Amino acid sequence: MAQARLSIDLSALCANWRMLRDAAPSAEAGAVVKANAYGLGLDRVAPALAGAGARKFFVAVAEEGAQLREILGPGPEIHVFSGHMAGDAALIRGATLIPMINGIDQMLRHVEGLPGHPFGIQLDSGMNRLGMEPAEWQALRDIALAQGPRLVMSHLACADEPDHEMNARQLNAFRALTDGIEVPRSLSATGGILLGPDYHFEVTRPGVGMYGGLPLVGAQPVAHLSIPVIQTREVLPGETVGYGNTWTAQAPTRVATIAGGYADGILRAIGPEGWLWAGETRCKILGRVSMDLIGVDVSALDGDPEWLELLGPHQGVDTLADWAGTIGYEVLTSLGARYARDYILS
Ligand SMILES: *Cc1c(COP(=O)(O)O)cnc(C)c1O
Repeated sequence: MAQARLSIDLSALCANWRMLRDAAPSAEAGAVVKANAYGLGLDRVAPALAGAGARKFFVAVAEEGAQLREILGPGPEIHVFSGHMAGDAALIRGATLIPMINGIDQMLRHVEGLPGHPFGIQLDSGMNRLGMEPAEWQALRDIALAQGPRLVMSHLACADEPDHEMNARQLNAFRALTDGIEVPRSLSATGGILLGPDYHFEVTRPGVGMYGGLPLVGAQPVAHLSIPVIQTREVLPGETVGYGNTWTAQAPTRVATIAGGYADGILRAIGPEGWLWAGETRCKILGRVSMDLIGVDVSALDGDPEWLELLGPHQGVDTLADWAGTIGYEVLTSLGARYARDYILS
C-alpha cells in the first residue's frame, strides 16, 4: 500500500479547545470550523467539539452551514461570516443558520426574505474585510437592534502580533460602536483570546489554535502525517536526485522515495529546508518535491524505513509553514484528499 496516512487526534483537538475556552473564562467559547474544519474533516471535528461542550459554531458560507447542520442536528447555533447572500434564504431557513449581516443590503435582504429569522451583525472595526462600516452601523443601529440580533462581532487584523498598535485601535473602535447594547459581543479569534480579558467580551471564536497551530503556544499537535517509503537506493557522489538536478550527492547516500508530494498539499516550497522523521532520527528532503513523490536521505538509519513522518510530535504545521514561507493555516487547509484519514480518540 502506498497511501500516506493522515491521523487526526480528536482528543488533542478538544484539549486545545478547552485550553482556549479556559483562557477566556468569562466568555463562551465557540468554534470556527470553516473550510472543512481547516482541512481536517468537518464530519468528525464538529461532533467532537460539540461533545466537548461547544454550542456556537462559525462557518464562512451558508453551504458549509447547511452541511454542518446535517452533521450536528438541531441545537447548536451556526453562524455564517459571509452573512445573507443573494439566493441563500432557503439554505439559511432550512438549516436554521444565523447569518452575520455585513451591510445594509444584506440587512434588507434578510428582513424582507426571512422576516423574524435569527441573524447577527458583523462590524468593520478597521480590517476592511467584512462588516458594516461605522457610518452604516450608525444609520442602521436602532432598526437592527430592534430586530433582536443574536450576536455582534468584529475581527482583529493583527492579533497574532500582541504588541501591534492595531489591536488596541480595533478594540477601541469596537467598543465605541457597541458599548451599551444588550447583545452578546465577539471580537476575538485565537490570537485575540491570548491578548487578555479586554478582548474577550461574551463569545470567542477560536479556530487555528484548536487545530494545533500558532499563535496558541503549547497547543497539542492534531494532524499526524506518515508517508510510506516506496523504494530505497544508494546514490553515489556526483549523482543527483529529483527534477532539475537541484541536489547532488557529496558522499554515498541512501535515498528513500516516499509516496507523497505537492498534489497531497505538501507544499513544494518546503523542499530545500524540509525534514522528515524516522523514529527519533531526522531525515533531510533531497531535491525538489514532486507531485506524488519526495526523495529523503535515510543514510543515518540502521535499516530502510517503511514509513517516514512529516507531521507529528517532532514537527507541526508551523514548522512546515516556516520552511515554505507561509502560515500554519495554509499548511492545514492544503492537506490533500489522497490520504487514508483516520481519527484518534486517545
Ligand atoms: C477564521 C476566522 C476566525 C478564526 O480565526 P483563528 O485565527 O483561526 O482562530 C474567527 N473569526 C473570523 C471572522 C474568521 O474569519
